[in-house]
Amino acid sequence: MSYPDTYYSRTMGSGVESAAVSEDIETQVCVIGGGLAGVSTGMGLVERGINCVLVEAQQLGWGASGRNGGFVSPGFSQDALKLVRLLGEDHARRLYELTNRAVELIQQRIKGFEDSILEGQPGSLTASWFNDETGVKRYVEDMNRIFDEDLQFWPRQKVAEHYLTKRYFDGFLKPGTMRFQSLNYVLHLARLALAKGLQIFHHTPALQVTRKHDRWLVVTPSGSILTDHVVYACSGYIDSLQPQLSRATLPVATYVLLTQELGSSLEDAIRAPYAVSDNRFSSNYYRVVGNCRLLWGGRVSMFQPSQEKLAVLMLKDLLSVYPQLKGVQADVAWGGYMGYARHKMPQIGKLSAGAWYCQGFGGHGMATTTMGGELIASAIAQDDQGYQLFAPFGLDYVGKPFGPVIAQMAYWSYQLQDAFQVSRLNRKY
Ligand SMILES: Cc1cc2nc3c(=O)[nH]c(=O)nc-3n(C[C@H](O)[C@H](O)[C@H](O)COP(=O)(O)OP(=O)(O)OC[C@H]3O[C@@H](n4cnc5c(N)ncnc54)[C@H](O)[C@@H]3O)c2cc1C
Repeated sequence: MSYPDTYYSRTMGSGVESAAVSEDIETQVCVIGGGLAGVSTGMGLVERGINCVLVEAQQLGWGASGRNGGFVSPGFSQDALKLVRLLGEDHARRLYELTNRAVELIQQRIKGFEDSILEGQPGSLTASWFNDETGVKRYVEDMNRIFDEDLQFWPRQKVAEHYLTKRYFDGFLKPGTMRFQSLNYVLHLARLALAKGLQIFHHTPALQVTRKHDRWLVVTPSGSILTDHVVYACSGYIDSLQPQLSRATLPVATYVLLTQELGSSLEDAIRAPYAVSDNRFSSNYYRVVGNCRLLWGGRVSMFQPSQEKLAVLMLKDLLSVYPQLKGVQADVAWGGYMGYARHKMPQIGKLSAGAWYCQGFGGHGMATTTMGGELIASAIAQDDQGYQLFAPFGLDYVGKPFGPVIAQMAYWSYQLQDAFQVSRLNRKY
């Protein structure tokens, strides 16, 4: 299957060559899944001198990794301060630090290739949808104190000067965060890994994985791979490949819209170079790309409607924040599935001897997948036990076959919580 029609596939650079598995192969590690989790794991392994084969059912970056919002920042889908409450400051800090290191590694890996990957200026604003100045200030203070972050509080007047909407109150800027052409980034990372010896096979779904003596046999339509270790990195697209992982993965659809060029009317709405997200459970996130276009993401659902319907839905959301942009046209809209765990944290660990998993990055996977890849690669190559930091976040059952219904109900309940917060905090506005 070719790439879906997205901003990323329309602006991608050259692809990565690959053959299909045509004979039986032997290797030390076989990674299943060619999104950022799989490619980062493959890269980490070949950098450590381990022979590795990667099989991808479609094409590299065909899943969430090549069609996301492109926001790259430390942290997890789960709120960092909730991690402090769950695990204590020390454990939460160690987890967060892993994501800082991942961002640094990403920066090293894209050196010299920034032009085709980095987009826009650094920095992103989180705008509060709620009239809760004290809450936003406390959040900024706690994050800066506990996680050594450099968040900058923006009073509501400053937010309103730069983002001309009645929806926002106060906010905070994360100065150093980056935005990527995410598909180009996957392909770049794959090229780096290929150069170090990673073998990549596109259009090669793993159909079955079975134990063969003390090794694993990964069966594909055109040949099989006999391997000491297998790494599952299939995220929301895992289907029924590995029952324990499949039961622990909730595929959640989410959407992005690319508008047509807005020209000078963009200034009627946005007067700062920073990308934006808001702090609702069901938040919007957006940034300016190309010639004054908006890349507008949001919503979670069990459904993936047609691209035409998505465009209508997302335009409605955009105009609810910036009604002055009425008349803006959609260029293209698309959706993708994120793999979520119940606890909203990555699932990184070992199922049994030689069988590893690296999944569950949810809506915050651009940097955390690099972290996951490094943890799995160092566990396999050096018997490093760092991945055990994720032991508290197991493979909880997500309620399949009703998982998507649960996702939809969770979304509705989040919307209700947002509406409740609005009525409680924003009453006098
Ligand atoms: C619309 C959208 C917006 C997002 N925005 C952001 C954002 O701005 N910032 C951020 O940090 N995160 C964002 N995310 C989340 C982020 O994209 C994901 O967390 C991350 O890309 C997950 O990477 P992955 O490799 O685990 O999964 P994927 O990229 O989904 O890759 C899984 C791959 O496994 C392959 N596969 C599945 N089964 C098999 C099999 N049997 N054999 C071989 N291959 C198989 C699939 O074809 C797929 O290519 C967003 C996600 C979406 C969908």
